[in-house]
Amino acid sequence: MSSMSAEPAPAVPSADNPLLAESPLPFGLPPFGDITLEHCREAVLAGMAEQRAELGAITGSTEPPTFANTVEALERSGALLRRAGAVFGNLSSSLSTPRLREIERELAPLEAAHADALRLDPVLFARVDAVHEARHDAGLDPEAVRLVERHHLDRVLAGARLDDAGRARLSEMNRELSELSTQFGQNLQLATEAAAVRVADAAELDGLSDEEVAAAARAAADRGLDGYVLPLLLPTGQPVLAKLRDRELRRRVFEASVTRASSGEHDNGPVAGRIARVRAERARLLGFATHADLVLADQTAGSTAAVDAMLSSMVGPSTANARAEAEVLAEAAARDGVTDLAPWDWAFYSERVRAERYAVDTAALRPWFELDRVLVDGVFRAAELLYGFTFSPRPDLAGYHPDVRVWEVSGPDGEAVGLYLGDFTAREGKRGGAWMSSFVTQSRLLGTRPVVVNNLNVARAPEGRPTLLTLDEVDTLFHEFGHALHGLSSAVTYPRFAGTAVPRDFVEFPSQVNEMWALWPQVLSGYARHVETGEPLPSAVVEALDAARLWGEGFATLEYLAATLLDQAWHRITPETEIGDPAEFERRALADAGVADDLVPPRYRTTYFQHVFAGGYAAGYYSYIWSEVLDADTVEWFRENGGLRRENGDVFRERLLSRGGAVDPLEAFRAVRGRDADPAPLLRRRGLTPA
Ligand SMILES: [Zn+2]
Repeated sequence: MSSMSAEPAPAVPSADNPLLAESPLPFGLPPFGDITLEHCREAVLAGMAEQRAELGAITGSTEPPTFANTVEALERSGALLRRAGAVFGNLSSSLSTPRLREIERELAPLEAAHADALRLDPVLFARVDAVHEARHDAGLDPEAVRLVERHHLDRVLAGARLDDAGRARLSEMNRELSELSTQFGQNLQLATEAAAVRVADAAELDGLSDEEVAAAARAAADRGLDGYVLPLLLPTGQPVLAKLRDRELRRRVFEASVTRASSGEHDNGPVAGRIARVRAERARLLGFATHADLVLADQTAGSTAAVDAMLSSMVGPSTANARAEAEVLAEAAARDGVTDLAPWDWAFYSERVRAERYAVDTAALRPWFELDRVLVDGVFRAAELLYGFTFSPRPDLAGYHPDVRVWEVSGPDGEAVGLYLGDFTAREGKRGGAWMSSFVTQSRLLGTRPVVVNNLNVARAPEGRPTLLTLDEVDTLFHEFGHALHGLSSAVTYPRFAGTAVPRDFVEFPSQVNEMWALWPQVLSGYARHVETGEPLPSAVVEALDAARLWGEGFATLEYLAATLLDQAWHRITPETEIGDPAEFERRALADAGVADDLVPPRYRTTYFQHVFAGGYAAGYYSYIWSEVLDADTVEWFRENGGLRRENGDVFRERLLSRGGAVDPLEAFRAVRGRDADPAPLLRRRGLTPA
């Protein structure tokens, strides 16, 4: 990667740049049709300059530091950068192009330097420090006190107490990390596209539906190739592995999946190793033993010891469950003459056992899960019954791509809440996985209301046919919508605390809770209608789904724990640790943690572990299961109180969802549950018994 100057190009945006002014559209929805990538680039650069000027006004003030002229002024600053950054950030995830990636590479180090300047400016820190000292004597309300504490802690963790030499080193490290993460993400995207599996003969695709075969043919045609192409998705496990009868093709897909970005021009191994090394050095500079210690100081978990205690209690039971599952699979495979069960066979025979034992062929359920019915009669309907939210399509409002649809959200008394954007289908230039993000976040101080978006990667249906979901995709939609609800429910004063702006090990909790409604009888019966006949999902299937729930939990928990412990291993190194070959480091880490299993590879291997090397989850991948403890306990609370009732939704929304980061998250949890979280419901739910 070429070195880049930290000095921004002169920011002289063209006068017709629509990002320069507040959007005239409802709720501040960006006028996507008028915005070009060059507008984004200019506006981000101009936004950084504007915020630096605002920062100069704060630090140049001759007034003594107060909450209003320092911390609140910081919250108000950066309006243009917030607006432009949200548009550009969302486009980089959902609609990437070569030009966008070029701009990303240009802006990433500048944005990192800008963020550093905001957190590390010594005059600013002295003012924040003074406000922090006096925070309890200034007549501030609890949210304002917490805001001061967060601004103070952010800066301490970022190195505001370092001397000039330390700050310079830190800034250099942050710049390098930002470049490396961008490189990791780009390598992964290109390597994943290049690793798509080519198939010459349709006969090899035996097991796939006609629709999936057609999609594979289209994927080949899109690339200008003959035959068929099976594109890869992000986790290790590829959905087609559950269906392909051709064992050799299964092996090829699996190998392509686990070796992604591990050699050649897009090799992420050295990039990941370098990222871990620089993070370790940065942690040392900031006074922490490892990067994991630094990260956990700022999470609800609090310490690496708390994380270890939770993870290690699950390794034994999940390994035992996975072994038991493997025995059942080996028997099923033996009936096909397969006597050497391999990792590429797991999903295929697991699906067969599920179908035989539990009489559920989840692939055959897709006709009951038509995207729009699931969304409108399932996801939206559950939110209406629980929270009183209603959703009206706004076809007059355009998204950033023709696939994107917009709904206006109203509250229980008909009041305008915000906008919900849905972008559900996969396409070139969209990153893998599913997520929620925001174009505008709620704040009473700024007078803004939320504009949130959900992205999924559902395979596009053939022209004129309805889009059908798998059961997993149904769960994913409920999950991501749980994040959207967190954003939409937000009722805080300061943008710093809006919606999902909570610690990472808490942010998955509300979204996981929302998954409980996917199979809730009253919700399911409303949306699961056969796309051609309108018939409801037979109750025998629903019962079987429930019985089948525990099948595969050993595998799922173990592959997750392996990825989590791999993440911890990479972030518990010190600057002195000899990393060596990254693949060997990975093998050793998994063996040391007791999760090296020939049949159950980690959910993510190092070279495609985007969450931790190019996302916000470094040393934080454990948080999914940490927050699932809170989730499982909350599910019990809903059940104990009668389930899907407005009274329950109101408690959950008012005491927890609406508070965002404005209160201590575990305090919000206690306000709902009446006590601390109990891990027992999670172990029960997964069929795991404590060792
Ligand atoms: Zn999530």
